[in-house]
This record gives sequence, C-alpha cells and structure tokens, in this order.
Amino acid sequence: MLSLPLVGCASLQASARDEAALATEAPPARKPQWGIVIHGGAGVIRRDMLSPEKEAAYRAKLTESLQAGHAVLARGGSSLDAVGAALRILEDSPLFNAGKGAVFNHDGQNELDAAIMDGRTLRAGAVAGLHHVKNPIDLARKVMENSAHVMMVGDGAEAFAREQGIELVPAEYFRTEERWEQLQKALEKEKASPGKPSSLQPSRDPATGEEKFGTVGAVALDQAGNLAAGTSTGGMTNKRYGRVGDSPIIGAGTYANAHCAVSGTGHGEFFIRYTVARDICARMEYQQLPLQESANAMVMDVLVKAGGEGGVIAMDAQGNVAMPFNSPGMYRGYMGEDGTPHVAIFQE
Ligand code: ASP
Repeated sequence: MLSLPLVGCASLQASARDEAALATEAPPARKPQWGIVIHGGAGVIRRDMLSPEKEAAYRAKLTESLQAGHAVLARGGSSLDAVGAALRILEDSPLFNAGKGAVFNHDGQNELDAAIMDGRTLRAGAVAGLHHVKNPIDLARKVMENSAHVMMVGDGAEAFAREQGIELVPAEYFRTEERWEQLQKALEKEKASPGKPSSLQPSRDPATGEEKFGTVGAVALDQAGNLAAGTSTGGMTNKRYGRVGDSPIIGAGTYANAHCAVSGTGHGEFFIRYTVARDICARMEYQQLPLQESANAMVMDVLVKAGGEGGVIAMDAQGNVAMPFNSPGMYRGYMGEDGTPHVAIFQE
C-alpha cells in the first residue's frame, strides 16, 4: 500500500498512484486491526474539473479528519467517538455538504440531517430538518444516548439540542456563496422546463462544473473490536417540503452491527428504497459474503440497475475496508493503526 504525505502537501503524482491503490476493486493490501474510513461525497468529480489548489484542499481536510478519528482510536477510544471526531472536522469545513457549506433547499434554507449507530449495541440516534445545530452528528449521538428515541426532527430536535447543551448557531452560519449559486442554477433550470416535475439536483459547483453529492460519513473499528457508523448531510440542492434523504435513515444511509459498518452517499431516494447500508451487512451475515463482495453487489449491481448514483464506505469486524462507488468520483480515505493517511478522489 502506498502512503501519502501528511496534511496539505499531497502531490498530484502521489495522488495518482494512490488512486490506483484505492480503486474500487482493490482493498488494502494488509488489513488494519483497527482504523477509520471516511467519505466526503460521491458524484461527477473528475480530475479535469478540480483545480490543483482545490484538490489539495480536499485532500488536506480528508487527511485531517482521518487523523482526528485515528487519534481517538490510538488512545483506546471507542469507534463511536472516532466517528464523531472525524465527522465534526468535515461538518465544520465549507468544502463538504454537511454543517457549514450545506446545500440549500428550494426555499433557500440549509436543512441538515445526521445519524450515528453503535454496532456493539445496535443503538442508534438520528436527526433531520435542523436549521441551527452546528454539528448535527453530536446531536444524533445525544439522541442515541440521552433519549428514549432513535430519531428526532425539526423544532423538536432543536429543542432537545438546547436541553442537551448542544451548540446552536444562526441559520446564516451554514451559508456559502457557492451553494447559493448552485440553488440559483437549479431554480433557473427548473423554470426553463416548467412542465417537468421538480427534480432534486446533486450539488454542482458553478466554478468547476463539478457535480457531487457531498455528504460526509465515517465508519470505524476500535481496539476492542467494536464497529460504528455515522453520516451527516445537507441533503440535495433544491429539495423541498421537508424532504429527508437516506443519511439519517438507519439501514439506508447509515448502519452498523457486530459484522459491519456502512455509510452511504448518493441519490438518497434510491438508498432508502433499497435499504443499502443494511443490505450490505445482511449479505455478509446471511450469505457469508466478504465485505467487498457485499458492498460491490449493492453499489455496482443493484444500484446501477436501479439508476441510483452513489457509493459507500464500509468496514467489517476483521478490519477489511471497502469503498465502492458507481459515480465518476468519491472523496474517500482510510487510516489503519499505522497512522498512514490513504486519501483518494477519482476513479483512476
Ligand atoms: N445521500 C444524501 C441525500 O440524499 C445526499 C448525498 O449523499 O450527498 O440526502
């Protein structure tokens, strides 16, 4: 397995070599005993669409997130804590469609969803339709640990956040100009073909033409052998009427049990209908399929046939890692116990 330099100095040459090592069909040569895997969204992300500066920024942020998760695991912390630490970094970065930098809905608001699941206990927490919670993944964890429920939405979830001392921010905190532009483009497109039913738009960067979903996710295996998964998102540009995607739906965009942990990114409606995350774990459990095969079957076969664009990151209790995606690119990476960051974006 090739290693990449640390934060901020990933060369394009090194990254091209690492893309090959991280291709869909190639799991790590030596599986880690414990570690963390992350994604920052899948979609039309091609090398010619990303400037070297932007690519370096993505790689640096993904590496920082891996390092945050790794630091928790290295000191014997839980996979749940590692997932939270890794996702907070990505939620706080305007580069990704989660927390700051989330996409806008049809009404020009940022509306956030997140979920976390503990593979050891099958406990889970999920939140949806948030407008003021700075780090939705933290609120999902509070729902899991400090409430009798699995999912809370909207005003009720934010009232619970207040009770729990979770940081709230003004709605403007989440706004970035790029995301606003993406919404304007989506609205114009819709206006140009008024007969058509309104469609969800993957987040599209008007400067680069890059189209992607941009959700963030993490799965981890800790030193005690426990798995966890988490996902956080702003959903899809131009979504409306309280639309909730797959990310906070346990079994669709997020799932973990004793065998495997999965976080997805892509066109959420398909991930919900095909219960993607749970299906991958069920294939392992019922058919004794290896992780990579289970994940590939779902992402590269079932979803492709259905027309559902996206990808997943997954880890099993043996430390195997899978990161298949059926779109041109997916921001992704993993770090095992040796602390070497492996970050990739494109398909080849
Ligand atoms: N899956 C997310 C959703 O549909 C979007 C994404 O992955 O970026 O809400």
